[in-house]
Amino acid sequence: MESCWAGCLGDCSKKLSREHLVSESLFLGDAVRVQGFPWCKERPKEIGLSGLTAKILCDRHNNALSSIDTAGKEFFSTMREMRRLANVRRTMKLRPWNVVEYSINGPDLERWFLKILVNLCCDRDYPIGRVSAVRGRPSEQLVRVAFGLEQFEGRAGLYFVVRAGMQVDSADRISFAPLIKHRVHIEGGLFGFRGLRLLLFLEPEGPPSPLSGLFLDGEDLGQCQLNFHNKQIRENSGKYRSQLLRFRW
Ligand SMILES: [Zn+2]
Repeated sequence: MESCWAGCLGDCSKKLSREHLVSESLFLGDAVRVQGFPWCKERPKEIGLSGLTAKILCDRHNNALSSIDTAGKEFFSTMREMRRLANVRRTMKLRPWNVVEYSINGPDLERWFLKILVNLCCDRDYPIGRVSAVRGRPSEQLVRVAFGLEQFEGRAGLYFVVRAGMQVDSADRISFAPLIKHRVHIEGGLFGFRGLRLLLFLEPEGPPSPLSGLFLDGEDLGQCQLNFHNKQIRENSGKYRSQLLRFRW
């Protein structure tokens, strides 16, 4: 039966919204590439954005999350802008640049990734979070974190997955792979966008490090480093600093 995944908060409105699982306006591309569920274990499956709508949040709870949608949108448009400027400066004569700075609210972005993770795993094969007992539904604690009523504990939260010389992909496409613990429940999710890899980990003990045996878009994540609550992304053009993105935590 269709129902709101934030139902445990107890104040659902009657109508379910036709939620886009991944906010449509974020991407120029039109598909999310998903891998790792039983139905897409061997190879990634592309899901068209038009097919990524589902009645999984009521109107009230959908509206309550609109501020974190803004945080997600800002992040992706900033990444796009940084890529654009890097391409422009690459063609210019090398010199000390005016460093362009950007700033992103880390906790809001983290909550946005949690919302997307829940949307993509909602009503699928596994409970979301260790203490959830219901297939395809998040634990009450995760719902409360998504709505800003509680915070992630310990080492749960957003990680950047990085490696020197990592391939930058300029395609405007998002990839997603769930982390499934002992084939029992979802303990996190991997996101890829334009060569960025992010991990949202749901449990307080933090993710295994290194992420041995995990791949996303052909990248061996076992070779990568995990940066918890990354504070900044620095971008050089030639030998000079060109751009700086700060995350406020
Ligand atoms: Zn609701």
